[in-house]
Amino acid sequence: MFDLLIRNATLPDGRTAHDIGVQNGRIVAVEAGIEDTAGEVIDAEGQLLTPPFVDPHFHMDATLSLGLPRMNVSGTLLEGIALWGELRPTLTTDALIDRAVRYCDLAVSKGLLAVRSHVDVSDPRLVTAEAMLEVRRVVAPYLDLQLVAFPQDGYYRCAEAADALERALDMGVEIVGGIPHFERTMEDGARSVEALCRIAADRGLRVDMHCDETDDPLSRHVETLAAQTVRFGLQGRVAGSHLTSMHSMDNYYVSKLLPLMAEAEMAAIPNPLINMMLQGRHDTYPKRRGLTRIPELMAAGIPVGLGQDCVLDPWYSMGSGDLLDVAHMALHATQMGSGDQKRAIFDAVTVNSARIMGLEGYGLEVGCHADMVLLQARDPAEAIRLRPNRLKVIRRGKVIAETAPELSCLSLDGRPAQVDPSEYAPRHSA
Ligand SMILES: [Zn+2]
Repeated sequence: MFDLLIRNATLPDGRTAHDIGVQNGRIVAVEAGIEDTAGEVIDAEGQLLTPPFVDPHFHMDATLSLGLPRMNVSGTLLEGIALWGELRPTLTTDALIDRAVRYCDLAVSKGLLAVRSHVDVSDPRLVTAEAMLEVRRVVAPYLDLQLVAFPQDGYYRCAEAADALERALDMGVEIVGGIPHFERTMEDGARSVEALCRIAADRGLRVDMHCDETDDPLSRHVETLAAQTVRFGLQGRVAGSHLTSMHSMDNYYVSKLLPLMAEAEMAAIPNPLINMMLQGRHDTYPKRRGLTRIPELMAAGIPVGLGQDCVLDPWYSMGSGDLLDVAHMALHATQMGSGDQKRAIFDAVTVNSARIMGLEGYGLEVGCHADMVLLQARDPAEAIRLRPNRLKVIRRGKVIAETAPELSCLSLDGRPAQVDPSEYAPRHSA
């Protein structure tokens, strides 16, 4: 007798007609044709059952602040940073918590149950860190929130940042961030990478830096980050976020860089929606895409997790909490259209990011947490194509969000009365 039994699901690895049994919040059986009964039974009707979506790069302290105190007119990263600087002194703990928890409601409805959020520590009041630590506590029953101490205005460029970053870590923020390309000079950027890796090594923490979020092909802090990772023995614990300068780098240089990153066991966290929006702004035509080299990173064995970065904030006026929007953009911008590549992109919004974040018990194997999402789609490629409704979102064996399937009624003579978009999946082999 299970607490919950999900029947007739398709799994991301292609297994069909599988049942998943859940007891005490954990997956205890994954088989075809389970005979046992259960307290609750969900018929998946052959649709895709996946582990939850994971967002490895977000700004929970800025989300839903779009329009405060004004809009970003140029649409650039630098105006976004300046605008955030105008908003920051007015931030209150209560308003930050309200916006972040409200965003988490949206995330849960989209099957997004784990988020790594950078938290700005440039303001020595640290209301952002205080608020996000409270949000982490509040949402913990339904969403895993990791926090990165992020010196938005520069670890050296902002006089208060170094002290505030250490205090944020003392308060319980668990990852060391940075922004080397925003320091005053290349040298300061490189020094900041070294200093921040040293802090992480001393405290036994992970590192996740905004790194080379620029079109400048000579912004090569990722090389320094790889070198300092090895030097401080941080292999497997360091991620470079954005890495957009890699788009514009010389190919020969990249052929040396990728093995260095692999040697350091670094992870890469591109943010395709915002990278497509913010990069290439100084170009006329042709316009660069400013998205890092995702297929090449994957081919080099570097874990790639795709993030949203922003939803409705000074940097990005779009965003929906849907990691399948991120996957959809990544697939197009990187031209990763083959079957294997679609599968790799799906992994980059699920298992890869869980691995990068070090999430415990993530997956659909026996023994994992019973955290799952049932989609109105037949397989991962269809999920990216359709960005379908999340029929059931399950956390520790309990349904915490439900959405009715998308079904349109037709009034056309001689045609079906109803259209279900998920029934258009190619079945030529059948
Ligand atoms: Zn960011």
